[in-house]
Amino acid sequence: MEKEHNSNFIKDIMIKDLQSGKHEKIVTRFPPEPNGYLHIGHAKSITINFGLADEFEGLTNLRFDDTNPLKEDTEYVQSIKEDVKWLGYSWDNLFFASDYFEEMYNRAVLLIKKGKAYVDDLTQEQIREYRGTLTEPGKDSPYRNRSVEENLELFERMRNGDFKDGEKVLRAKIDMSSGNINMRDPVLYRVLHSHHHNTGDKWCIYPMYAFAHPLEDAIEGITHSLCTLEFEDQRPFYNWVVTECEMESQPQQIEFSRLNVTNTVMSKRKLKMLVDEKVVDGWDDPRLPTISGLRRRGYTPEAIRAFCKEVGIHKGSGTVDSQMLEHFVREDLKLKSPRTMGVIRPLKVVITNYPEGQVEMLEAEINPENEEMGTRQIPFSREIYIEQEDFMEDPPKKYFRLFPGNEVRLKHAYFIKCEEVIKDEQGNVVELRCTYDPETKSGTGFTGRKVKGTLHWVEASQAVPAEFRLYEPIITDIEEEEEGKTFLDYVNEKSLEIVQGYVEPNMKEAKPQDKFQFFRHGYFNVDPKQTTEDHLVFNLIVSLKSSFKL
Ligand code: ATP
Ligand code: MG
Repeated sequence: MEKEHNSNFIKDIMIKDLQSGKHEKIVTRFPPEPNGYLHIGHAKSITINFGLADEFEGLTNLRFDDTNPLKEDTEYVQSIKEDVKWLGYSWDNLFFASDYFEEMYNRAVLLIKKGKAYVDDLTQEQIREYRGTLTEPGKDSPYRNRSVEENLELFERMRNGDFKDGEKVLRAKIDMSSGNINMRDPVLYRVLHSHHHNTGDKWCIYPMYAFAHPLEDAIEGITHSLCTLEFEDQRPFYNWVVTECEMESQPQQIEFSRLNVTNTVMSKRKLKMLVDEKVVDGWDDPRLPTISGLRRRGYTPEAIRAFCKEVGIHKGSGTVDSQMLEHFVREDLKLKSPRTMGVIRPLKVVITNYPEGQVEMLEAEINPENEEMGTRQIPFSREIYIEQEDFMEDPPKKYFRLFPGNEVRLKHAYFIKCEEVIKDEQGNVVELRCTYDPETKSGTGFTGRKVKGTLHWVEASQAVPAEFRLYEPIITDIEEEEEGKTFLDYVNEKSLEIVQGYVEPNMKEAKPQDKFQFFRHGYFNVDPKQTTEDHLVFNLIVSLKSSFKL
């Protein structure tokens, strides 16, 4: 059974509401705007909304909050559905806010009839000026006292397309001197002659988010409308809309803190900039914290869910170290993924006393921490590849890997000793000549002498060429953007390094999205986009070492 959410203030409210009989069933919703791909922050909202409803056997709707036609697209709708499913959740209902446009319009008409809304001719800029500030009250618009009849007629004409974009708006009539600026006659509807991905050209007026959202929640009978803290000041208006529009169901808005993760960007606006400026290879670039990027990188839904649950549900803001996310993917892959050997930057080694033409098969466990996974066969012969960084001609003290005259262990194979270094004309080391000791074969219980270093390797004649994509954080550490700079100035130029190496021959069977632990390197995923029949591409998911402790 998967971990439930630890006790938290939202869960407590739900328990209380069920016990008091206020609600019989918990109904939540996940309400993304289809204006980009989902990211790890959304995963937090998803695990909270779906996870909490599940714990109480309630319902969760997936609702596309598509009230702004300018930025929305069906490509995003598709990707969001895919990502929610992949994270392991299934929605009870799939809704589009735009399906409620008619009802929203009718509720706005009701407000006009009650004298609670009016059509305003002020420009956007004037409205802002009239709004006042935190310390000064706002001023009434000269159009504030139009008659109900005039407002009804003008609002209908807005709908009919008689006005240009920005020419008129519908505003709530509340209180221009309210201490809460959100209550100073907020705009409910604007004129916008724009094609909508769902309703086409049916509408040329669109409801504002702050008006639409409470109506959507109430229409669907959402009991607990969970959102992030920046909506706290909107709560009075949320409740005003539900009450004044005479909605039958009264959802309760509850805010929790946004998830922020170090060394990355999280807002869809910034992610879209990275994609549009081609800084990255699409929304699913493995360096991005999008769900599709994390999936392509090799993260698992289990790891992401466990991470979100550990982050928990709080009111306080705070940024989570990206190492915490890495910790959970290591934990998840540790027992699941086969171990294997791969050489990322190859250096040829010839074992001069090993018989020419002979290839022997060595047996190795697939995962020493999970014996059930069995064993694999790996070839060994006179020519192998080792890692360039596992050899130094002139090593410092305490270097236990290969150097002239030194002996090391080859994992699953023999001890070898470096006898000769071959260089090219520029003086680069291009090959090592070594000898091996047949007595030292792995698994035979040899105890004659000890060596300090154990290296990974791949047999040369059967080695499978592979591309390794090594990643670093997309953004270098920034506390605050300096003046005149944008976050694009903090993109880490070394965030992607591509190298060509070799892997064990049994890797020919590897399929896109298969995950492996490469001995001494880390966890890698077979890239689903770049891998072809004869070109294996591995994404570094996470390296092995971490200083992170829970
Ligand atoms: P962004 O600023 O990244 O575009 P958003 O809040 O505009 O995010 P929506 O599509 O409106 O994105 O979000 C859908 C839901 O996901 C909302 O309920 C929102 O509060 C929640 N959400 C978005 N980002 C985060 C985050 N970083 N942490 C927790 N919840 C989030
Ligand atoms: Mg948004």
